[in-house]
Amino acid sequence: MGAMNATSRVSPGSDLAGRLRRAAAGLLDAWLPASCIVCDRPRGDRLCDDCETALPGVRAARCPRCGLVVPGPGDAAPARCAACDDDPPAFAATVVLADYAAPLDRLVHALKFGRDASLARPLGHALARRLAVGWRDFPPPLVTAIPLSTARLAERGFNQSLEIARALARARRLPLDHRLLVRTRSGAPAATLHAAERRSALAGAFATPRPLPGCAVIVVDDVMTTGATLRAAAEALRDAGAGRVINCVVARTAQTDASRDRQRRPGPS
Ligand SMILES: [Zn+2]
Ligand SMILES: [Zn+2]
Repeated sequence: MGAMNATSRVSPGSDLAGRLRRAAAGLLDAWLPASCIVCDRPRGDRLCDDCETALPGVRAARCPRCGLVVPGPGDAAPARCAACDDDPPAFAATVVLADYAAPLDRLVHALKFGRDASLARPLGHALARRLAVGWRDFPPPLVTAIPLSTARLAERGFNQSLEIARALARARRLPLDHRLLVRTRSGAPAATLHAAERRSALAGAFATPRPLPGCAVIVVDDVMTTGATLRAAAEALRDAGAGRVINCVVARTAQTDASRDRQRRPGPS
């Protein structure tokens, strides 16, 4: 992978490094026969229909607000979960590709830590296919992603959620604005915190640098665990005037308790 070595000499996290990495991924895509990222069979689309429909939880009844799997009859529209009823989040809906389990956990891990940015495109396209949420009363939504901290971006060289957002925005022909959310402080709360502790630690963690009167915004994240990060992001966007915030996440963990999430997650997000 000479192209990746070439990009490693560029200051990590710079726009140039990101552009080079995406260009390298694009060239590889063009040169190599496309094969499915799950079953490895040669396929036109890099996540084949068979594998997409077999993802765990892909047809599960989910709370429309936070994407948590809720018990319920298969065909009836699922009701909101108890947590969303008790304490409604600032976001209106969450679109989920599938559960955080094999093979999505492996793919997200490879995207995040293996620096295989080319995985973002099939995941973003699959997520775009799930996005049937209406925004009738709003202008076409702006697409953005949960930003990494500056330190994490420098260490990793790219924001995996932004790369997924880029693919989703392109597939749905929606405008992408990667600067809609900024972190107001460095570092992230420890993964050992429980949901309620995580939420208070994350309150005010994001700001929106410009007013968004009446806008609809799609916020992309790779994995949703307690939902505290997406709650804080949606609060910042709503404070800036956004009328509707919709989350799009590749993988949703089944439990909301951070201590159990920790056992399922491959490492820090
Ligand atoms: Zn496949
Ligand atoms: Zn819910």
